Amino acid sequence: MNKPELVAPAGNMEKLKYALAFGADAVYAGQPRFSLRARDNGFKTLDDIKKGIDYCHERGKRFFLTSNIIPHNNKVETFSRSLADFAALHPDALIMSDPGIIRYVRETFPDIEIHLSVQANCTNWMTTKFWKDMGIKRVILSRELGMDEIATIHEKVSDVELEVFVHGSVCMAYSGRCMLSNYMAYRDSNQGLCANACRFNYKLYASNTPQEEDYKTLDRKYYIKNTQNPDDELMLMDEDEYGTYILNSKDICGIESLEKLIKSGVCSFKIEGRTRSLYYLSVVARSYHGAINDLTMGQPIDEHHVENLQKLDSRGYMPGFYAEKRVNPQNFETTRVTSNVAHVAAIVRGYQENEKKAILSIKGTIRKGDRLEVLRPEKSEVIQAEGLLNHKGLPAEKLSSGLENCSIDMSFDPGEYCLLLNLH
Ligand code: SF4
Repeated sequence: MNKPELVAPAGNMEKLKYALAFGADAVYAGQPRFSLRARDNGFKTLDDIKKGIDYCHERGKRFFLTSNIIPHNNKVETFSRSLADFAALHPDALIMSDPGIIRYVRETFPDIEIHLSVQANCTNWMTTKFWKDMGIKRVILSRELGMDEIATIHEKVSDVELEVFVHGSVCMAYSGRCMLSNYMAYRDSNQGLCANACRFNYKLYASNTPQEEDYKTLDRKYYIKNTQNPDDELMLMDEDEYGTYILNSKDICGIESLEKLIKSGVCSFKIEGRTRSLYYLSVVARSYHGAINDLTMGQPIDEHHVENLQKLDSRGYMPGFYAEKRVNPQNFETTRVTSNVAHVAAIVRGYQENEKKAILSIKGTIRKGDRLEVLRPEKSEVIQAEGLLNHKGLPAEKLSSGLENCSIDMSFDPGEYCLLLNLH
């Protein structure tokens, strides 16, 4: 079995380093101002991107630059002008979605590899062939495709690389072509400003008058049903103390579909989430890296890789459209999952071999005696928090969030990339 590439999100330089350390073969990061994560992008300048590219290339890894906004007239010229500076840095590919800008790049920088963004919503083999003829090397397929559809695309257009998203949040609209955020929060999703309006928690009120003070929250159950089809099930319009989440899709988790996706012709797996935490990124990258290694060695996926994903904060998992039997992604009872989620207590910044102490940036709370999971690229182990020293080097019973240069006893060198999770 050919080993597929694992592509992880890099929201900033630190995340990029962790993604690679925990098993990613490549990362994607946003072109400043012109990717669909224009906010919260840690790569703010040309120099930031250069450092990211250099870091990857020095380690034999790949760096893809996401340049996938849907520009209006007033951005077309600045966008295309700025591409020249970024192309000169030699990213391994540009991830793009706008046909006009793609043609401009193809004509102006013929050597640069282009990957078609999921945002372009490629859903069939004819469109895939069109993009291949336009000089696209890799198509990131629409998330809304089933396994058989992917296999057909590969069969009919075998000389284009296919990539799919296997883990992370899912839009309720066709992969981002959505105006909900514009409407609810005055922020345009297609210009990189999505406010995740589909995931806000809403309350449903009922009133016969338009005065807000007359509105009441629901005091009994309401349902909706498709009136065209009497066999359809009733869908509960319910709310808990937080509100209702009728548009809040579960997250996709495709780890158990990897083998079939590879057999269907997919050569690259992508993880969503440039704004997710270091912890999330590390665990997801390590799990998928481990699963891909198992499969390429002809072994079943180790259960630990699947179980570790359950420790992460999520909206609940679903296999997406890859599953043979479609599941209802809008199961209200299981949409919000926050229990059993581990908390990052600290990032390890160094190790004092003589003292056998790990130097820490504290991100949560560590109390003497707490059980800590030491999360490393190759494995995890559990230790007990002993020998706490605070930022002044003084013995402490507790280390609190925000403190730098603290330390605890550790009998082994945890390496350059390590997080401590508090299991209490
Ligand atoms: S509001 Fe939701 S569905 Fe719309 S683009 Fe944003 S994440 Fe996607």
